[in-house]
Amino acid sequence: MTRPQDSDHSGERALAELAAELAEQRRALAALEREPALLAGDPGPALARLAEAAARRLRVDRAGVWRLRRPVGDDARAERIAPPGPTITPAPSLLAALARADALAITDTRRDPRLGALLAAAAPHAVAAVLLAPAILGGAPAGFVCFEHDGGPRRWRPRDALLAGLVADAAARLLAAADEAHLRELATRDALTGLHNRRSLAEVGLAEIERARRHGARLSAAMIDIDHFKRINDTRGHAAGDAVLRAVAACLRAGLRASDICGRWGGEEFVVLLPETDSSAALRVLERTRERIVATPFSAGEGEPERVSISAGVAEWSAGESLDALIDRADRACYAAKRAGRDRTALAAPSP
Ligand code: GH3
Ligand code: MG
Ligand code: MG
Repeated sequence: MTRPQDSDHSGERALAELAAELAEQRRALAALEREPALLAGDPGPALARLAEAAARRLRVDRAGVWRLRRPVGDDARAERIAPPGPTITPAPSLLAALARADALAITDTRRDPRLGALLAAAAPHAVAAVLLAPAILGGAPAGFVCFEHDGGPRRWRPRDALLAGLVADAAARLLAAADEAHLRELATRDALTGLHNRRSLAEVGLAEIERARRHGARLSAAMIDIDHFKRINDTRGHAAGDAVLRAVAACLRAGLRASDICGRWGGEEFVVLLPETDSSAALRVLERTRERIVATPFSAGEGEPERVSISAGVAEWSAGESLDALIDRADRACYAAKRAGRDRTALAAPSP
């Protein structure tokens, strides 16, 4: 007699449990989306924490997040990115399931061939049962979450499938956030040297000027131009020129403080912004940089390394000056260094 009511109650209880689970998942996801590595474009650590928490909740032996690389055709590869692991060629039946956005619930791996290489990758564990949920991004499978159960077959319950789906959705969101951060990062970088590009320099430079203004701090800028760079292209080709540019940029960056900002202004020209630095300290930094660069042989691809020198102009920001005006003064000083014979640094005239 009391049965219908009982089952109503247990149904309600199960729903309440799931709602609590969902709320918990949402909170955890919000924290994971603020993970520093993720904001720098690497989803690995956030996904590893997601997988770990999910493994505990589903009471499985381990959970992994896999990313599909080149997800179509014979070329498809799947790489376990959390925890970091192997790259495999997924079985066609697995790819087909992912393409349909279907989950795979495998009760007994000994009787089910659908996972193919995925299980071999799990060695040395003897995975007995697997629950796999697709992570869908932009309408296509971007990867999947794989829950592995050792020590005998396991019949997956609807609740397990539901949780696995939630975890896969969360993984997709983290992958999307990392991709977006990565693109944002790329957009601020110069493709050849990895330094700030000109647009990013302008953005960061404005912020530095604002900071100097607010705190009454010093700020200096330097314009650096490689001497007779055209010669390298002319004698050894453009690819060799590119290699030297990359190497000089790396040498330049390595000799500066972490708080200094270094970007590629144009062809073989670089701009450095030195926060909390007055002109005489900046001149010393640039002089040291110049000496390092002349003393370093730079790889030009095949053959002998190249030696180059630089000319540099240094200017200190004065209150009220714009970024353009500051860089222009550094540029004029650089030009003066060239005229004076190259391989030297020069200090800019004060701001008018
Ligand atoms: P100076 O001492 O007067 O600066 O002489 P320079 O030859 O360095 O100056 P110029 O401005 O005449 O030539 C700069 C050269 O830099 C021209 C171009 O061939 C080269 N260059 C600019 N950007 C790149 C690049 O991305 N890759 C390569 N390989 N060469 C570049
Ligand atoms: Mg130049
Ligand atoms: Mg030059």
